[in-house]
Amino acid sequence: MYPRAIKSYFAPTEVSEVLALLGQHKGAAKLLAGGQSLMPLMKLRLVEPRVIIDLNHVQGLNEISERAGVLTLGAMIRHVELATHARIRQSYSLLADAAGSIGDPQIRNRGTLAGSLVHADPAADYPPAVIALNGRLVLTKPTGNTRIVSADDFFVGPLTSALDEDELVTRIRIPAPSAHTGGAYSKNCQVAGDFAIISVAAQVVLTPSGDCQQATIVIGGVMPKATRAPKAAAVVVGTSLDEATLLRAGEAAAAEVETQDDVRASAVYRSQLIRVTVPQMLRQAVARARKVEA
Ligand code: FAD
Repeated sequence: MYPRAIKSYFAPTEVSEVLALLGQHKGAAKLLAGGQSLMPLMKLRLVEPRVIIDLNHVQGLNEISERAGVLTLGAMIRHVELATHARIRQSYSLLADAAGSIGDPQIRNRGTLAGSLVHADPAADYPPAVIALNGRLVLTKPTGNTRIVSADDFFVGPLTSALDEDELVTRIRIPAPSAHTGGAYSKNCQVAGDFAIISVAAQVVLTPSGDCQQATIVIGGVMPKATRAPKAAAVVVGTSLDEATLLRAGEAAAAEVETQDDVRASAVYRSQLIRVTVPQMLRQAVARARKVEA
């Protein structure tokens, strides 16, 4: 189907222009980033904006910087940049894993970090990764007022986020990891490049002697949104991360995270995938923290 005709298209070059346009066209406008989720929704006529504000020429939304213990990622960073950026691969590896597993090269060349987060698909790859990294989104209103929302609070439900319709995501902030930290992300899907049946993001911080000081496990591909598995994480904290403990963490995650049947998989199959994928991701996260091959 063709999208419904739009009334106006704007291609601003400054953030201030975007904010002014959002203020003028509140409720009628949609921001266009990579277009990889917005355009399919428009073609299905599930979304019918009268006004499109194209972000692709806006200066200052493409920053990747690490200062004062915080990684700052501009809203318009493309998936391919996150997947291939040396510093991100080294220190925020689960984010690079997530970016590299999105769709296919065409999608990764166009799609953006903020576009995916705002789309808030429960089966998308960034939500579990950004939650696991304690990411925070910087949201700005036409008045210039800015609020900062944690990724935990940003996702509200399927295709629903805490973003107001006149707000722009300008950047995403992620605290820099401490020493001896490793992370890993993987998804299970029906065919390569598909959305997740389930996905697992795991991050561990080790003591200098190699025991687990802190652990985070987040499960994606479950409704209504990606969810933390704190009981499974507690299983590994304070241990030497031996194989039996990792398997117990998988059992704990499968028990604590509620799964659902849908066209992609049954709830039982999803729980089984969680059971086996959590130990795999923990193993890889530990190996990265110890800087050895998993
Ligand atoms: P757009 O489609 O341009 O916008 C999406 C939404 O975000 C719109 O509502 C838009 O108004 C809003 N928005 C965009 N930027 C901002 C901003 N800065 N501030 C406020 N609102 C904003 N995703 C996965 O996670 N995993 C996959 O395996 C996967 N496979 C895919 C396969 C195909 C064939 C396709 C078409 C898409 C797939 N996707 C997948 C989705 C892809 O990651 C999209 O790039 C992403 O969901 C949306 O990002 P975008 O930049 O294209 O945003």
